[in-house]
Amino acid sequence: MAINYQLILDSIYEEVKPLLAKGRIANYIPELAKVEPRQFGIAVYCLDGRTYAAGDAEVRFSAQSVTKLFGLALAFSREGDAIWKRVGREPSGNPFNSLYQLELAKGIPRNPFINAGALVIHDILAQRFVQADIAILQFMRTVAREASLDFDPAVWHSEEQTAHRNYAIAHLMKDFGNLHGRVEDIVRGYCRQCSIAINCVELARAGAFLANHGTVPWDFTRILDPSSSKRLNAAMLTCGTYDAAGDFAYRVGLPAKSGVGGGIIALVPGELAIAVWSPGLDENGNSLAGTMALERFTTLTARSIF
Ligand code: GLN
Repeated sequence: MAINYQLILDSIYEEVKPLLAKGRIANYIPELAKVEPRQFGIAVYCLDGRTYAAGDAEVRFSAQSVTKLFGLALAFSREGDAIWKRVGREPSGNPFNSLYQLELAKGIPRNPFINAGALVIHDILAQRFVQADIAILQFMRTVAREASLDFDPAVWHSEEQTAHRNYAIAHLMKDFGNLHGRVEDIVRGYCRQCSIAINCVELARAGAFLANHGTVPWDFTRILDPSSSKRLNAAMLTCGTYDAAGDFAYRVGLPAKSGVGGGIIALVPGELAIAVWSPGLDENGNSLAGTMALERFTTLTARSIF
């Protein structure tokens, strides 16, 4: 029997409403602290082109770490396995902005989805493109089929002024020889990359190529070969939701990438991409209502990769 996605999204929206006041907004980036917390959006992009949405699915939010996924996809598509010489692919079990393992691992980040890893990916892209932040934005515009995606200058500058940890991480990696560009340029570019604003409908569309074996479903552009796409999905599952990746896999059962703006993109390989957003975060920095919504989605639709 065909699944009525619209009915499911509408009922999930009702279910998560009581949670909307409960999460904590990320306030270490001052501009993010201004976001109205009681918002929630959800959108599904099916590979046959049908789109379903509920709640604030067309309100743009700060993509933050969700951009790490697109930076990685772009770097992986250009450099292939060479990226793994400079960044690992093991879950960190530590907060996304931790410096702790970096010292022990001599400047090699655990994975591309923590800040250290995303800074290295940004550095790899900066060697190939005139500006890595713009390359990532252009890439997201292409895969989202949305030319109006853009940086949010207020969020960018707000983060830049408080990016002390990211500077510390970048300096440590530079000291170990794992950052080729200037620290200031890489951190600035990374903060700008994180400030990209997107909504759930656009984000679900942007993730569709990863649910479609690396190929954009509407125009058949191959971004990644099927094997690389599968590998990127594996890295999302094990590392995409910070130190909560195990719990997230247990509850949701899908490859996903989250950001402190409250957005999460998740994939049902071969079928659909789903994006959720709600700014209130749980203790690990994942959207509280968003994670619950994905848990309910995979339960109600019996979708899972397991
Ligand atoms: N820009 C944020 C930071 O570097 C992104 C973190 C996140 O979304 N987890 O701290």
